[in-house]
Amino acid sequence: MDEKKIMQVSALESGTVIDHIPSEVLFKVISILGLDKIDTTITFGFNLHSKKFGKKAIIKISERFPDDDDLNKMALIAPEAKINIIRDYKVVEKKVVKVPEKVKGIARCMNPKCVTNVEDNVKTRFTVLINNGAVDLKCHYCEKITDQEHIEIV
Ligand SMILES: [Zn+2]
Repeated sequence: MDEKKIMQVSALESGTVIDHIPSEVLFKVISILGLDKIDTTITFGFNLHSKKFGKKAIIKISERFPDDDDLNKMALIAPEAKINIIRDYKVVEKKVVKVPEKVKGIARCMNPKCVTNVEDNVKTRFTVLINNGAVDLKCHYCEKITDQEHIEIV
């Protein structure tokens, strides 16, 4: 960790820091975690330089600890995200997101003719495939692959 990063992390008294988010999915992550609806302070930086990703984003959420379900949903679009739980200015826990093997009702199937897009009451079901570090979703119903770029979280 470089000095700047330590300062950024330790500036949070209590809350969650999510690092290594690809910049282009930052706003999707904010929406998955419901951060657009909470009333505590959130700061984020994006287009930060990262050796691994090119551009990355970081989110700091004051006084909030997203639950594992939401973090795993987030893993669909930010599979390399790292989560630090902060209490009393210290990192007390580090979490790595786990991409679930199967997901239900989280994302939309990109096949417009899929039963899940035609019938209102059929929830999507996918098997998660990891392809060169990217996440692809294979539809349980139509077997069409929705690739990471097209994942639309519902
Ligand atoms: Zn489908």
